[in-house]
Amino acid sequence: MITGSFNKGTPQRTCVGCRQRDDQGAMVRVTRNGSCLLVHRTKRLQGRGAYLHPRSSCLTKAQKGGLSRSFRTAIPNNSFVEIREQILEMRSEGSDE
Ligand SMILES: [Zn+2]
Repeated sequence: MITGSFNKGTPQRTCVGCRQRDDQGAMVRVTRNGSCLLVHRTKRLQGRGAYLHPRSSCLTKAQKGGLSRSFRTAIPNNSFVEIREQILEMRSEGSDE
């Protein structure tokens, strides 16, 4: 089935913060390793992951529930501190936006 011109091959993902759909490339991917969170630029990675816009407001919303829901477990606060730093680093390197 062909679904019009909306999807031109860029995968759409839902942000666990603001719950809006966006291009996968506009987001970072968050994966869980035990109680540790890891942030990746979106590439092909195996395993369970959540997508998040690399901005503070989305991270805050994700912290309030989106990510715990995605991973079906409570995420410690210090894990959010860590990924916030990683995301901010990515932002300062990147030139998109
Ligand atoms: Zn978002």
